[in-house]
Amino acid sequence: MLKSRNYDFLIVGAGLFGSVFAHEATARGKRCLVIDRRNHIGGNVYTENIHGINVHKYGAHIFHTSNRNVWSYINQFAEFNNFINSPIAVYGNEIYNMPFNMNTFSKMWGVRTPAEARAKIAEQIEELGITNPANLEEQALSLVGHDVYEKLIKGYTEKQWGRDCRDLPAFIIKRLPLRFTYDNNYFNDKFQGIPVGGYTPIIAKLLKGCEVLLNTDYFDFITANPKISNKIVYTGMIDEYFNFCLGHLQYRSVRFETEELDVDNYQGNAVFNYTAREVPFTRIIEHKHFEFGTQPTTVISREYPLEWKPGIEPYYPINDEQNGKLYVEYAKLAQNEKGVIFGGRLGQYKYYDMDKVIEAALCVVKQEFKE
Ligand code: FAD
Repeated sequence: MLKSRNYDFLIVGAGLFGSVFAHEATARGKRCLVIDRRNHIGGNVYTENIHGINVHKYGAHIFHTSNRNVWSYINQFAEFNNFINSPIAVYGNEIYNMPFNMNTFSKMWGVRTPAEARAKIAEQIEELGITNPANLEEQALSLVGHDVYEKLIKGYTEKQWGRDCRDLPAFIIKRLPLRFTYDNNYFNDKFQGIPVGGYTPIIAKLLKGCEVLLNTDYFDFITANPKISNKIVYTGMIDEYFNFCLGHLQYRSVRFETEELDVDNYQGNAVFNYTAREVPFTRIIEHKHFEFGTQPTTVISREYPLEWKPGIEPYYPINDEQNGKLYVEYAKLAQNEKGVIFGGRLGQYKYYDMDKVIEAALCVVKQEFKE
């Protein structure tokens, strides 16, 4: 039962974008109703506590940013631990550190110094002699040489995209950072960590003081309640909002297979990437390691990349030329849609990390409240 028949804002999506907006609007005295079609708050950052382990239900979420304001902002709602993302790559029986750094090169070739590693890569690039890469495979080979490409890039990328690297355009990989130090920290950002207790409590704090309706789809809800708010903040799929009138934008999806295991430590690290094409999943996440857990059992999730089709979750926008053009047309429709703000990764068809989505939401708040 709704408390009111007229809210200042109807916010569609209880993910990070919608929740930051809702929090800021509520703090400015506005009445917000937040709806989500899922049965929980948090969108893709949702974590569920299973036997004391905070399980990242929609894939590993590591907070990292170089934006001090965003870092201060999010730290109001949680204490962050000092987790550093240092993924491990598995290729057959071989194990490598990621991102590509001196630990990787030393394991691969037995080299010890940066000069030796650079020389090995340069030698492989020269041998291939690719001057004008025609596809992603040639592009990657021309940047890192044969070994790193074959063992650590090829299979993983093909699984992610569901296509051969030779059939993918070169522009997908602009550069491949090679690090000539013994440093396994995946991110270059100044600030990094995992919220102690998971992400869901952050969202719950952000939504404090707002009314929240779960299991509620916008399209049904607005038909039944057409004048429910003065304004709408919409964080669902922009093409769905317009009933796909210009066609479908494309997405990639992921299927998560989560399992509880009766061992205390399954893989010794939060993130393992499986880089061989024959292994059908791309990663295994062992959730307890995000918070240095010491529980007697563990929870792991395998991630299987999928082609998106209607009815399954759209996770990653495909920012190629064709989708880019279509999005521009939808964005024009959105501009003319009076009283509706489109935000977040689905509303703006943009791959946003969490810090960027917070930044974007705070920017919209400033515009909306003319600050
Ligand atoms: P969402 O979280 O998608 O929220 C949108 C909400 O709107 C959803 O809950 C959805 O159910 C709801 N909704 C949609 N349509 C409707 C409708 N019609 N009616 C009602 N509700 C609707 N970022 C990082 O910084 N670090 C990471 O390590 C990281 N890892 C990631 C791993 C994966 C697998 C994925 C997919 C993303 C990852 N991200 C990461 C990005 C992060 O998830 C996003 O930045 C963030 O979740 C975006 O928030 P949002 O509010 O825009 O979207």
